[in-house]
This record gives sequence, structure tokens and C-alpha cells, in this order.
Amino acid sequence: MSKKSRYCSFCGRPESEVGFLIGGMDNSYICDNCSMQAAEIVKETTEVSQTLPKLNKSQTPKPKEIKDFLDQYVIGQDEAKKFLSVAVYNHYKRLMQEKDPNDVEIEKSNIIMVGYTGTGKTLLAKTIAKKLDVPFTIVDATVLTEAGYVGEDIESIITRLLQVADYNVKMAERGIVFIDEIDKIARKSDNPSITRDVSGEGVQQGLLKLLEGSKINVPPQGGRKHPDQKYIEVNTQNILFICGGAFDGIEKKIAQRLNTRVVGYGASIETETIDRKNMLQYIAPQDLKSFGLIPEIIGRLPILTYLEPLDRDALRNILTEPKNSIIKQYTKLFLMDGIVLDFEPEVFEYIVDKAIEFKLGARGLRSITETIMMDAMYELPSKKTKKYTVTLEYAQSKMDRMSAHRLKIA
Ligand code: ADP
Repeated sequence: MSKKSRYCSFCGRPESEVGFLIGGMDNSYICDNCSMQAAEIVKETTEVSQTLPKLNKSQTPKPKEIKDFLDQYVIGQDEAKKFLSVAVYNHYKRLMQEKDPNDVEIEKSNIIMVGYTGTGKTLLAKTIAKKLDVPFTIVDATVLTEAGYVGEDIESIITRLLQVADYNVKMAERGIVFIDEIDKIARKSDNPSITRDVSGEGVQQGLLKLLEGSKINVPPQGGRKHPDQKYIEVNTQNILFICGGAFDGIEKKIAQRLNTRVVGYGASIETETIDRKNMLQYIAPQDLKSFGLIPEIIGRLPILTYLEPLDRDALRNILTEPKNSIIKQYTKLFLMDGIVLDFEPEVFEYIVDKAIEFKLGARGLRSITETIMMDAMYELPSKKTKKYTVTLEYAQSKMDRMSAHRLKIA
């Protein structure tokens, strides 16, 4: 090819109009100007993805503000809400502190929440994430296994955080992780194991590394580590961990401890004043140890709080009060078809009765309401109905049919 006919493949200018051309494959070229622009683009994109927006004290939500926000979505659980709000606020302050080696260093306060299943632990974590300006992810401890075993490596927790932070490592390094079902990685017996405990103690040891704050190599795509993979180094020092678990049967450990204490000198809780219906309120770190969490993990989760069991009133409120309550969601669905949906107040009591009867707790409220509303949702959009009232009789008839159907299966 003659020298005259060489052009920049990007801007199309001939060689005579540019400084010089750099050759590529198949007679393609790039001129000095275009290559400079390309370098600029590369620089900008990598810088954008790794910059860290500065946290501003005046924009950081105060604990009360965080709790007010939680109140809009989560019924009750005041204690847990307060603990969470303060911990998250302190997390922000910690992120904002100037790096001065002579100054007081604010330590990370990871949290552990204990409460029966379906009492709002995940909901609290999800709701707090809505309010925050930091990456947030929820992971399930049950899928984690010690490196080398079937399951997911502990590092995959951080992969999730990287993914929600669009692989911006600096952003991920100040994120929040909610680890659900932490009780499922408890040691099976109270004695430290001699043999390896794949799903329990080994995972706790692995998790400890993350909670303590260390530099770890994270596989960008998660799953299992393999030798050919490139890793991203992430420092977990500023990542806040919130753990949640039902700790089934921990009441017995609490009761045992309280009983021994009351007998001993200097007891602070009298046996008669103990509210046996809600033992979780007396939870202390040593109960977690008796349950099978290793002391090092407990030490790294200094904030321990609990969730109340949901009583009738709480269930009734959950049905209608939260900003996106189940009933408000159905009302909206019908309104989108131009139908004003209404419920006889007795229907709400009935739904709560059934949730208690089936021992389904708050989780059951949705499935029961769904069963009651299914036929109406199927038929009404094709009719000219403008207003529809769900009566107690209607709700009962729908539930009776379902129960009968269930009985048939059984
Ligand atoms: P947990 O994580 O404690 O097992 P979840 O937070 O997943 O329970 O709760 C299950 C569902 O029950 C939630 O999606 C929510 O609809 C409802 N729920 C549970 N507790 C509450 C609560 N305190 N306030 C409002 N809704 C709740």
C-alpha cells in the first residue's frame, strides 16, 4: 500500500493532515490525536469507577432520623431499631474520621440481631439499606463452607458487595453486609472440635477474618476460587457487618444462665420478674457461646440486640400500617384497574387469626391474603366493577376451600 493512501481508521484523516499514524492489524491506523483522546477516555473511565464520593456530615442521617424511617416500614422492634440506627450512624462517623495516627481511633461496631424467624430481621436490614448511601448486600450464611468444600467460599460475601458497588473497590470497602442465618454456622457441640467441622467452626474461623478487618483476595465472579482466576484485593476494615439469626432453642440457654445467676450472690434479675414469654430480651454474649458461636466471633460482634416475638396486635398492624403494607399493595393493584378495594374490618382480624392458627407468623399474612384475593384478582379486571368490598363471609369461603383442598392432599 502506498504511503499516500494511509488514513486514520478513527477520524478518517489522511496521514498528511496528522502528526503521525500508528499501525494496527489489517491496514488499520490510529493518528496521534485520536490515540491521545482514547487514552483520555481510558483514564476517565477507570478514575470514575474508582472515585469515592465524599461523605458529608450534614447529609448523614442522625440516629433518630434513621429510626423514624424504619418506623414507616417495620412495626415494633424499637430496641433493635435503636441499636441499628446508632450503629449505622457511628459507621458513617467512622468513615468520616480523619486519618491521624495520634487521634482516638473509632472501632467498628458490627451487630448481631437475635429473633424468631419472620419477626423482621431481614426487613430491618433491607429498609436500612434504602436509607443509606453506601453499598449494601444480604447474604445467607447457610451457603458458606470452608475453602475446599462444596458450597461458596467466605470471600463470595465480598464479591456480592463488589457487584452492588459496580466493582468500585473503594465504595465496597465502606459498605454494609447483612449475614442472615448466622446461627446455622454454630458449632454443633459446646466442645471445640478435634476433627474438622466443615459447616460450622471452619466457616466461623473464615468469617472471623472478614469481621476483624483484613485484606482479602476476592474472586470477582464469586462462587469457588480457582487457580487461574484474577482476584481483587479488598480491605474489610471499614465494612460494617450486621448478622441475624433465629438461634432456635437459645431460650433454654438463657434460662439456665439466669437460674444459676439468681441463685448466686449479686443477682440482678429476680426469678419472679423474669418475663418467660420473651426470654430473648435477656440475651447476653455468653448465651451465643453456649449456642455454639466461637468467642472470637462474638468478640467481633460487640453489639447484641434482639427482636420481640410478634403478638396479635403487631400482626394486625403489619397487615395495614407499614408504608407498603400488604393491604396497601392489594389496594394499589386493584386501583390500577380502576377498582376501589375495601375490606370489612373483621377480615383483618380473620387473617391474623389464621396466621396464628397455622403458626405462620408475619410471613403467613401474605399467603393468606393472597388465597383470599386470588379469585377476585382473576375475575374483576374483566368486569366493569368500580368498587369491591371483601366481606368476612367471602374471606371465610375462600379459606375454607383452601383448607378443604389441603385436607384432601393430606
Ligand atoms: P426474618 O428475617 O426475621 O426471618 P423477615 O424480615 O424476612 O423475617 O420477615 C418476613 C416478612 O414478614 C417480611 O417481609 C414482612 O412482610 C413481614 N414482617 C415481619 N416482621 C415485621 C415487622 N416487625 N414489621 C412489618 N413487617 C414484618
